[in-house]
Amino acid sequence: MLPKVQCPKCHTEAELDQVLTAQSNQNVIYRCQNCSYECRDIHTSKG
Ligand SMILES: [Zn+2]
Repeated sequence: MLPKVQCPKCHTEAELDQVLTAQSNQNVIYRCQNCSYECRDIHTSKG
């Protein structure tokens, strides 16, 4: 079971796997499928 994340813009809940895209440079992009909100400022647990 994947944790769910809520879009800060439209408040639609989606599984992390559905909205987070991991880049090769270890950046993670959040993209809401409902409102197309995009955020590159995701902080990962690995610092
Ligand atoms: Zn959204």
